[in-house]
Amino acid sequence: MLLLRNGRIINGTGEPSFDGSVLIDGERITEVGAFTPPNDCETIDCSGLAIAPGFIDLHSHSDLQVLEGHTAKIDQGVTTEVVGNCGFSPYPYVSDKEALRNYANGILCGDGEWGFADAREYLDEANRRANATNVVSLLGHGSLRTAFMGGSQNPATESEMQRMEGALDDALSAGAAGFSTGLMYAPGSGAPREELVRLLKVVARRGRVHATHMRSYSWELDESVEEQLSLARQTGARLQISHLQAVGQKNWAKQDRVLARLEQARLDGIDVEFDSYPYLAGSTVATQLLPQSALDGGTAAMLARIAHSETRAKLTEEINAQTAQRWSDIYVTAVATSGNQHFVGRTFQQAAEHWDTTPVEALFRLLTEEEGKVNILSFNQSEENLRKLMMHPLGSVISDGFYVKGRPHPRLYGTFAELLGGLVRDKGWLTIEAAVQKVTAKPAARMYLKELGKLVPGYYADVTVFNPSTIASRATYDDPCHPPIGIEHVIRRGKMFHRP
Ligand SMILES: [Zn+2]
Repeated sequence: MLLLRNGRIINGTGEPSFDGSVLIDGERITEVGAFTPPNDCETIDCSGLAIAPGFIDLHSHSDLQVLEGHTAKIDQGVTTEVVGNCGFSPYPYVSDKEALRNYANGILCGDGEWGFADAREYLDEANRRANATNVVSLLGHGSLRTAFMGGSQNPATESEMQRMEGALDDALSAGAAGFSTGLMYAPGSGAPREELVRLLKVVARRGRVHATHMRSYSWELDESVEEQLSLARQTGARLQISHLQAVGQKNWAKQDRVLARLEQARLDGIDVEFDSYPYLAGSTVATQLLPQSALDGGTAAMLARIAHSETRAKLTEEINAQTAQRWSDIYVTAVATSGNQHFVGRTFQQAAEHWDTTPVEALFRLLTEEEGKVNILSFNQSEENLRKLMMHPLGSVISDGFYVKGRPHPRLYGTFAELLGGLVRDKGWLTIEAAVQKVTAKPAARMYLKELGKLVPGYYADVTVFNPSTIASRATYDDPCHPPIGIEHVIRRGKMFHRP
């Protein structure tokens, strides 16, 4: 037995913390609070430290890295990761594994010939190999579409539709926790409403969750939220709006309206919540800066459109109209070739100056030279809006972290310490109990995860012990790949995690 003695217990429910101890027997918590411990247990002195449930990262893109024992998350106290977000899961495929990789590798950042036929194959592999965190997987709509329709953004035929419904139903019965859509990413962006309705009805029938990267977070933020609420109302599928924010200064004022709209929707009986990462900057693939119609047919087709003077001119016009951020706020974080590595950490404005051209031309040139393999980071939102998101009772806090072969967004290494140190202790935005709830009991409830996310007798012994007065992220935009300080002990399923 393992005794965590004399700490401050933050039990995940959001209720006030209290002094006490936690007793663990095997994989389970057996006592919490004041009790007489057995004589023979291994003891960790937790005086001056907080004892919390192991953190749950409700929105992660570490689908492949969890299999390889990367420690970026457990170093932050994360014991459960929800992967398969924004339409990207490493399954399914039917015959063309390469098409799946072409679609998803910009976000999943795998090496070699990865790809899993279905949820069962992936989850078996995760059970066998993921030793650093529990893995909860969503089936990605873009991966599903790629499996049955290739890179096409056309509406599905009836037989394609039926095969997608069948594969989604199989995945949910095999243990996938839900379904994710990525409606800003081709080919998911091509799905008409009727396709989403039919797939979400499968999700609702199975009593699972739909997490969505909506069509727009900038100019059409309001319309995108309305679309999702209307889909949730029509299908009954539980809705989780992923990484909610208003992108671009001209859209910042929309956020208050959206939050009020979600509160109203809850009163109207729609099962909706949202999540956000604790940073002003976002991160994704550079092809997100193009109209998604430019990606129809995959990378080669996209590069051909860029190369053709007429379509290039049309794309330029569309990009200038749709880009809500300033080009001096959009940074290159990874490229594939060695010749362009010097652009990593520089903005498209700077790339344009380097090549003596416009930022859009610099984007085209970089995408062309890198065959589409460019990752970006962009400063999207205001501090005031971020504060409102972090404090809102409907919001969970997520990392949205993903690996790149370059300079990842610091959220991959710093999210949970940034929340508890930077936002709770240093800025005083929310109580430590509320913050812990947003990364434990709340995400567990959203995903229907049983016996996880609270320090309660009978629950799994996933526990994170941290020092509230020292916890801090050391991951910066310029130098992100560092674990935080102040995470003292991480226990998963009753076992102490030790850094390899
Ligand atoms: Zn996303």
